[in-house]
Amino acid sequence: MIMDCIKCGGEMEKGFIIDGNQSMNFQQRWHPGEPEKGMKVFGMDLNKEVISASSFDSTKLLDVNTWVCKECGFMEQFADIKK
Ligand SMILES: [Zn+2]
Repeated sequence: MIMDCIKCGGEMEKGFIIDGNQSMNFQQRWHPGEPEKGMKVFGMDLNKEVISASSFDSTKLLDVNTWVCKECGFMEQFADIKK
């Protein structure tokens, strides 16, 4: 897919957003619905920002590809629709 920037007409380059922490990196992915946040271990709330593993279906995840304009930095994203 070759794209021109809708803001300035510049050339856009395909890439991806890294989604991770200090130890592991992943490609950003899309999931339908609202995130359910919170991680409990032995009934204690440990991290209110973590998306609960039981709240999403890994078969519904789509990789997110991102294009960035080399001229102005505008970014556009598309989910990698599996056909
Ligand atoms: Zn641009």
